[in-house]
Amino acid sequence: MAEIIDGKKISNQIQDEILLEVSDIKKNGGKIPHLAAILVGNDGASETYVAAKVKACEKIGFNSSLIRLPENTSEQELLNKVNELNNDKDVDGYIVQLPLPKNINEQNIIEAIAPEKDVDGFHPQNVGRMALNLPTYIPATPFGIIQLLERYNIETSGKHCVVVGRSNIVGSPMSILMARNSKIGNCTVTLTHSKTPNLKEHTLKADILIVALGKPEFVTADMVKNGVVVIDVGITRVKSEQTKSGFKLLGDVKYDEVFAKASFITPVPGGVGPMTIASLLINTLKASKKEVYK
Ligand code: NDP
Repeated sequence: MAEIIDGKKISNQIQDEILLEVSDIKKNGGKIPHLAAILVGNDGASETYVAAKVKACEKIGFNSSLIRLPENTSEQELLNKVNELNNDKDVDGYIVQLPLPKNINEQNIIEAIAPEKDVDGFHPQNVGRMALNLPTYIPATPFGIIQLLERYNIETSGKHCVVVGRSNIVGSPMSILMARNSKIGNCTVTLTHSKTPNLKEHTLKADILIVALGKPEFVTADMVKNGVVVIDVGITRVKSEQTKSGFKLLGDVKYDEVFAKASFITPVPGGVGPMTIASLLINTLKASKKEVYK
């Protein structure tokens, strides 16, 4: 039976720690960290995510700004706004909420963000710094997973870590981080994706299994070995007759049966999800303290 990795609890702990640090900064007359977010259009999920980020900032005493732009914003108009934030001395870090409307090239926007303000950690310069194990902003979800492994004292050194999924925001950075020579790292890493034949052969060898493919309950008990540490990143909303809302959230792991074999497991919801906001706040604090770019 597994120990449940409680992301909500750890996220709250981190936010409490940041709150204390911000009170000290305020007492000493220092600069209050300021996170800005640009939201283009009216995508419901994006609105919810951005609102949660702004609320978290308020809760811990950061300054925050939400910049809303209409759905029909052109790429040039968004680039102008990005440029404005790059030059705004009061804004320490900012995010451009993805996905963007189809007429805007996301990569052009990501590359226009000043690396020192790129608290999402998506700029190629920051991704490169991560690969080189230099100080950087690690993207929120992978950073959240690292925090969970660290705070649950899970030994990673010398372990075999299998990552399922190679997206730029989760799987790929996760594989880089787990192979780095650092406290959480030093794993032998296998990165798998949709073209990997016999996936089960790989997952069965995992001491640490990080699953981010977006297919509900894809990983079943027969695919894991006893004692595995399971990090389930997937979140899919599916119809349910058991809930009032008519929906429930499922991870990429068949929780009950894998729980019985694992040593640690993240639930969905309440595992990796709540950590993303904590990670963003840590990155903003780092930006404000100029810890990454002096
Ligand atoms: P993407 O759709 O960008 O990537 C999915 C990856 O899974 C791809 O690399 C794909 O391979 C791989 N894949 C698909 N099918 C298989 C298969 N049968 N076997 C092995 N690999 C497969 O997803 P994201 O990384 O953005 O997200 C993954 C999940 O995590 C989603 O449910 C998302 O909602 C969730 N998520 C949760 C977050 C959180 O805060 N908890 C944050 C971000 C994401 P290929 O490259 O070959 O296509």
